[in-house]
Amino acid sequence: GTEHGIDEAVALLAAATSVTVLCHVHPDADTIGSGLALAIALARRSIPVQVSFPHPHELPESLRSMPGVEHLVAPEQVAAEVDLLVTVDAGSPDRVGDLAGRMAGARRTLVIDHHATNTRFGMVNVVDVDAESTTVVIAQILQAWGVPIDAALAHCLYAGLVTDTGSFKWAGARSHRLAADLLDTGIDGAAISRTLLDTHPFGWLPMLSAVLGTARLEPDSAGGLGLVHAVIRRADVGSLRWEEVESVVDIVRTTADAEVAAVLKEQPDGRWSVSLRSKRAFDVAQAARTLGGGGHRFAAGFTAEGEPDEVLSSLRRALG
Ligand code: 5GP
Ligand code: MN
Ligand code: MN
Repeated sequence: GTEHGIDEAVALLAAATSVTVLCHVHPDADTIGSGLALAIALARRSIPVQVSFPHPHELPESLRSMPGVEHLVAPEQVAAEVDLLVTVDAGSPDRVGDLAGRMAGARRTLVIDHHATNTRFGMVNVVDVDAESTTVVIAQILQAWGVPIDAALAHCLYAGLVTDTGSFKWAGARSHRLAADLLDTGIDGAAISRTLLDTHPFGWLPMLSAVLGTARLEPDSAGGLGLVHAVIRRADVGSLRWEEVESVVDIVRTTADAEVAAVLKEQPDGRWSVSLRSKRAFDVAQAARTLGGGGHRFAAGFTAEGEPDEVLSSLRRALG
């Protein structure tokens, strides 16, 4: 597919007779916030809509209070045929897992995303790599469509924005302006941030303690700029929910003398989901891409099999 603008997305959505919205595996606040905001807008225009994401993962607890969750359906309930299928915050078809097969049963497909590695796999692709969250793109679509942004929509959009900008740590002026407009609808930004980013069960603390003990600093890796890595095994995770392991990389990445941070997260199926972060000099999306993954310049990831040592060896090679 090729690159399209906001207006083409609006035309597709406005003309749709039924819509399926797909969110990515290990759903986060950006993909769910984007999906639910679209669903709320479509429902208001009386267009039937379903939102889903691939199992086995459940909806993170912190996202269960998001407006529009009533539009979420289990993957097996997703209609085989639909007028318009939309993916949100997914850079490639594999990011929607088994649900990628549903694209064949759609009359039209629309990809809305902000990943640098997006493969433009839709018939219409709205990919804005300068947007700091996919919800920024959704906000533009809703504005162009003439959908008034009320508190329910603002909640969904803010959730993606605050998460993908690391609580606005690396947010630019465009994101701050949108955040201000969203807060003007009366949403409680502090409560949304606390729920999404600053709330963990007590068991998170002993997990962190075990995992941070595995951290190693390799000053000569990553082209001599330094690599820090840590490994999260299933035994460390215990009964903690998957989203609790996602936050560990944000602590590991604060290491001075390491340009790149990597956290190896052992999935329930035994494969490794690897989170990569860089500070400024390194493009981790490129390294992730050579390992079959993708992402953004400063935040990327890939999935791998084998022992942690093997995964780390291929990572070192990919980092150069
Ligand atoms: P995280 O480390 O938060 O899981 O992911 C960081 C970024 O890398 C996200 O934007 C995500 O899209 C991307 N990413 C993470 N894991 C994978 C993967 O296995 N495949 C691809 N294509 N992208 C990934
Ligand atoms: Mn995401
Ligand atoms: Mn995103």
